[in-house]
Amino acid sequence: MTDQVILREVGPRDGLQLIKSRLDTSIKLTWIRAQAEVGFTEIEVTSFVPISVLPQFADAVTVLADAQKIGKLLPSVLVPNLRGAVLAMDAGAKKITFVLSVSESHNKANVRQSTDDSLAMLREVVAERNNRQNIKIATALATSFGCSIEGAVSETRVTQIAEILAKQGIDEINLADTVGYGDPVQVGRIFTNVKVAVGELPLAAHFHDTRGLGLANLMAALDAGVRRFDSALGGLGGCPFAPGASGNIATEDTVHLFNKLGIESGIDLDALLEVRRQLAKWLPSEKLEGRLLGAGPAKQ
Ligand code: ZN
Repeated sequence: MTDQVILREVGPRDGLQLIKSRLDTSIKLTWIRAQAEVGFTEIEVTSFVPISVLPQFADAVTVLADAQKIGKLLPSVLVPNLRGAVLAMDAGAKKITFVLSVSESHNKANVRQSTDDSLAMLREVVAERNNRQNIKIATALATSFGCSIEGAVSETRVTQIAEILAKQGIDEINLADTVGYGDPVQVGRIFTNVKVAVGELPLAAHFHDTRGLGLANLMAALDAGVRRFDSALGGLGGCPFAPGASGNIATEDTVHLFNKLGIESGIDLDALLEVRRQLAKWLPSEKLEGRLLGAGPAKQ
C-alpha cells in the first residue's frame, strides 16, 4: 500500500448546497485560503449550476478566480451539464467535475435528463476540453452505492458506465455514495470491479456519513487501492435532490484516521481544527458534525 493520499475538501461546494443562508463570498474565500494553508492541494470551491437552482453559487466566477491565485492549490468545480462546463472553462477552471447519476431517477431529479443523455453530453464536454489546454475532467458517479429514490443500484451498471467513461478520455472517476447507502463490503467489491474495468485511470471516493458508515466505507476503498478521497469540514454536505441525504465524512475525522494509519495526507491536523473552529463561527445556524473537535486527537 502506498502511504500517500489526496484528500479533497468539498465543503465550499457540497457543504454549502443545502444550507439555508448564503455565505458571503469573502468568507468562502477566507475558508478556502485557510484550508490551502493547512495543506490542502485540492478543494472543490464552487459549482457552475443555474443560479435559479442554487443561488448559493451565484458568485462561482469570483470564487474560482480568487482560488486560482492560491499557490499550489488546484481548485476544482462541479458542473451538471455542458453549459456549466463551458462557463467553468471560460472562467479558467483547470479541473471540472462533471456529475451524473448511475440511478436514472436521481439523474432526472438532479440534472433533468437520462443517464445516457448525460453520458452523451459528457462527450461534448470532453470535445470542448480538447480544444483547450491543461484542463482535467473528473466524472462523479452519484448514487454508485444506492439511491434514495430507487433503492439498490446495479453494480454491473456502475462498472459499465465506468468503462464508457474510460473510453471517453476523462481523467478521473469519482464514485459517490450520495445518500449514504453504501457498506464496506459492497464498497470494496465495486471499487475492485471498477479498477479492473478502467485500468490505470485514477479513482476517487466520495462518501456521505448519512448512516454512520462513512469512514468504514473509506477504509474499504483504501484497501481496494483508492488514494483520492473527498470530505467536508465539519461534516457539512448533502444533495438537494436526494431526500434524507446528509453530510459528507468530516474532513477533520478523516485526517485523524489517516494520521493513525500512518498515511500521509500533507495536512496539519491541529491547524485544520483551528479552521474548523472558525467554520462554526462562519455558519452559526448550521449543525456541524465530526467527532474530533470535541474529543481532540488521540495522544501519540
Ligand atoms: Zn456529496
